[in-house]
Amino acid sequence: MTDTTRSSRIPGFHKKSPAERLALVSDFAGLDAAAAARLSDTGNLDLGLADRLVENVIGSMNIPLGIATNMRVDGEDVLIPMATEESSVVAAVCNAARQCYDAGGFTTSMSGTLMIAQIQAVDVADPHAARLRILGRREEIKAICDGCDPVLLSFGGGFRDVEVRVLDSRGGPMLVTHLIVDTRDAMGANAVNSMAETLAPHIAAWSGGRVYLRILSNLADRRLARAHAVWPLDQIGGQIGGEAVRDGIVSAYHFAAADPYRAATHNKGIMNGVSAVVLATGNDTRAVEAGAHAYAARGGQYGSLTRFEVTADGQLSGSIELPMAVGLIGGATKAHPTAQACLAILGVTSAERLARIIAAVGLAQNFSALKALATTGIQKGHMALHAQNIAMMAGAVGDEIDRVAAALVERGSVRQDVAQAVLQDLRGEA
Ligand code: NAD
Repeated sequence: MTDTTRSSRIPGFHKKSPAERLALVSDFAGLDAAAAARLSDTGNLDLGLADRLVENVIGSMNIPLGIATNMRVDGEDVLIPMATEESSVVAAVCNAARQCYDAGGFTTSMSGTLMIAQIQAVDVADPHAARLRILGRREEIKAICDGCDPVLLSFGGGFRDVEVRVLDSRGGPMLVTHLIVDTRDAMGANAVNSMAETLAPHIAAWSGGRVYLRILSNLADRRLARAHAVWPLDQIGGQIGGEAVRDGIVSAYHFAAADPYRAATHNKGIMNGVSAVVLATGNDTRAVEAGAHAYAARGGQYGSLTRFEVTADGQLSGSIELPMAVGLIGGATKAHPTAQACLAILGVTSAERLARIIAAVGLAQNFSALKALATTGIQKGHMALHAQNIAMMAGAVGDEIDRVAAALVERGSVRQDVAQAVLQDLRGEA
């Protein structure tokens, strides 16, 4: 029954302490003491820090942190911290990396660390002439933008270029100014947003129009991370042989390239790897995801972020290219101690190196997913871990979890009702 006496209108909620808020929420939701205690146990994130990172904090949500091994990126071995709640994601990266390790691992590159901020102007009488007026003020624009962020400038970043587009919109022509800014080791959202906001009144004056939106574009296509690897046939063979696996993977890629229904799942798998590292390093998963999916649709049809083909000597070649707006400072990257520890594990000293490693992880993830799909199917690999989740859902605790999971896998029936029956038998025997 719905309780209609409860109210979500809680005046001053934001001014209360996390403990006071938790008490109110516990009361509202009827949480027992154990649930409330679990919420207030923020583990490796200090409650005071959590309270400063976001609003209305009552606790924290912990996600497992796994380490992917076997990765070699640009000739250097690296351990990859991955924060994810999904089983098989970490193992997939380990497996893919092992199978291309001896062939050299991953080679990566980056188009730059440039972000784009957009300023929207409407009601411009002469948009094409206004475009030229703005472009003619390049040096003035540079001075205004660079003046916003002397710290960024001191690290070698700052304004790089201005572009102006006349956009044909439903509301008539729209003048859209793009600021191209090198944000170096910052993801750069705040940095470029400040520049866009500071410049906006000038754009309004120069264009004679009205300025509305002033914010970065997450389609960070001046910040593309790229990774490539070759998987030798003798490494990927298994029972059905290297050629069959190779051809299955290439065909799976062709499927994704031709069909958005398939491409969405194909790219979701890539983001399993990408987002896990983005999250582990305290970066903005939504920013990277939005950029990746927008980039995958840049040609007008949503397609694959990776490509698989056959090398001249018959090996499997895989590559990936996607926007990668991640930083080492700013946002939660610097503030969150776990993110700092993850950056230390990665041993990265530049946002560019981090972005390149993440691209390699995305490619590795995709290789493993396609290999599984093209051979045994995805469920087999998932089953062992999935069975443990099902066992826990059925109420198994401690040693019971492994025993119930093993029984489910052996029976080939990973279902909660079966798990309950197995658990009952087990407890009966005991
Ligand atoms: P930030 O503003 O906290 O830090 C960036 C600043 O750090 C730079 O402007 C510079 O002044 C300084 N800095 C110090 N050392 C630097 C170095 N080596 N290289 C570059 N800059 C250096 O953070 P940010 O990166 O501008 O913004 C990231 C945050 O913005 C994230 O938390 C993100 O979630 C959030 N955000 C995202 C969006 C979006 O993606 N649409 C929109 C708004 C905010």
